[in-house]
Amino acid sequence: MAEAVLEIFPEAKLAIGPPIDNGFYYDFDLPRPLKEEDLEQIMQRMKEIMRGAHEFKREVVDRKQAKELFKNQRYKLELIDDLPDGEEISTYTQDTFTDLCRGPHVGSTLELDPEAFKLLSIAGAYWRGKESNPMLQRIYGTAWQSKQELESYLYQLEQAKLRDHRKIGKDLKLFVIDDAVGQGLILWTPAGAAVRQELQNFISAELRKQGYSQVFTPHIGRLELYRTSGHFPYYRDSQYPPLIERETLDALATEGMSCAELANRVEIGNVDGYLLKPMNCPHHIKIYASQPRSYRDLPVRLAEFGTVYRWEQSGELNGLTRVRGFTQDDAHLFCTEEQVPKEILGCLALVKVILATLKMTDYRVRVGLRDPDSAKYIGDPANWDKAEAACREAAKTLGVPFSEEPGEASFYGPKIDFIIRDVIGREWQLGTVQVDYNLPQRFDLSYVGADNQEHRPVMIHRAPFGSMERFFGILIEHFAGAFPVWLAPVKAAVIPVAPAFADYAERVARYLEEQGIHATADLSDQRMNAKIRLAQSQKIPYMLVVGGKEQESESVSVRTRTGEQLQPMSLADCLQFIKGKIEAKELI
Ligand SMILES: [Zn+2]
Repeated sequence: MAEAVLEIFPEAKLAIGPPIDNGFYYDFDLPRPLKEEDLEQIMQRMKEIMRGAHEFKREVVDRKQAKELFKNQRYKLELIDDLPDGEEISTYTQDTFTDLCRGPHVGSTLELDPEAFKLLSIAGAYWRGKESNPMLQRIYGTAWQSKQELESYLYQLEQAKLRDHRKIGKDLKLFVIDDAVGQGLILWTPAGAAVRQELQNFISAELRKQGYSQVFTPHIGRLELYRTSGHFPYYRDSQYPPLIERETLDALATEGMSCAELANRVEIGNVDGYLLKPMNCPHHIKIYASQPRSYRDLPVRLAEFGTVYRWEQSGELNGLTRVRGFTQDDAHLFCTEEQVPKEILGCLALVKVILATLKMTDYRVRVGLRDPDSAKYIGDPANWDKAEAACREAAKTLGVPFSEEPGEASFYGPKIDFIIRDVIGREWQLGTVQVDYNLPQRFDLSYVGADNQEHRPVMIHRAPFGSMERFFGILIEHFAGAFPVWLAPVKAAVIPVAPAFADYAERVARYLEEQGIHATADLSDQRMNAKIRLAQSQKIPYMLVVGGKEQESESVSVRTRTGEQLQPMSLADCLQFIKGKIEAKELI
């Protein structure tokens, strides 16, 4: 692609072009913004190059040669400058084009099927992802072994577009993002909030069954707290800046302190302030530590739908899936070493129940283990062995595929990640279960054991669905907005066949409403068919059509959003029917 672009725009400056999942991209600095038609032209040229049967020739050069080769390519020069001393510098050449590349490559362009790739889109991307750097133009492409594979991927993309939660979210009025509130901050509208409430009720009920206690904690905490936990200042780039107390600010202002000096003092710790919480753990730890604990109290399982704030670059924000404020389905378990395996099992059992209920049964887990060659891990290696074995054993019990990935553990403990596959075959990473030896140590947590001695508990962090925002986004796409009855914001739309039956329609809706089933009566001037279409497009599970016959017999004619016509039912039967579907958590 870079060769083709360079031919069309000889003054183009080339940045980087790595392979990515399902394809590749390349960033270019070009004299003008690209248009859709350009992609077509670039693609045609790429096909010609491929058919030209050019060999990919690898060459090793030294730094000086490399700089000479790319003397007109400022980004390449920067890349060369950043290569560590002693690192081999290689180039690949095909046809008329040479690029700086580590490789490997296929042997020849003939090995590529010109019909099995497509350029997909153009996006802006900062050089090296930094907002202070020039904005480049990125061309995304997808490449496959065969035309058939390409086509099935394009079909998936098309489906993904139809299911895009940002579009459906707007159509069904599920959530909004308003610039005046802030990018990446989600406003849950009544319809979206109804779905979330049902989900949370459901998850909470399962948590109660498993012996969790619900807690609530504030959205901020003192900087000191996060200094202890290690979240501040080490992760400060992914946090909102601290809130400094007014008195401190006033005092510093009279001292004539510069911003730089203030920032420095905040970091080293002699100015106090608050942080929007990036994690719920420290707050839960303080609840644990608020009273003496005995081994008989353990495990202590504290759960909270806890809202946290992280600073994502604005370019990274994306609907509900990349946000700056989100509510985790969080919990922290404080237990003894011996209890770790059983608690991990419990966490997985919970995920299993919830995913099964949502009919999302196609998922796998990834067990993140230590990198055997690294010394960065804290804690006793013997404990690690036990915790890793526990994660592995727990994963086995799920009856789904799992992989073990050395090096994927965090420095403070092993973890288990969940990856679900949605109806169109896309994979989504959900949340994790993580064993932690670090925070109990940093906060000096303890419990009194059977031996009357003080011991250190182990913590397990678990937010199996990640965040309510992200999970909601995934659910919207998975169901294409057609939520199961129990989650659907409106369960039934009552549709009178003619204005004469408006009163009865209203009465039916009220009847259901009083029984806890959210239903609306469509009393607009539209014709009946238009109302049915509207209710269908709003993905309302049931349409209750009422006319003279129904009014007389106190009944309804039931249609599903999938177009199925059910037997007429008395009002009471209809209520029982919908209630039954909700209780059984059926799709429709
Ligand atoms: Zn945590």
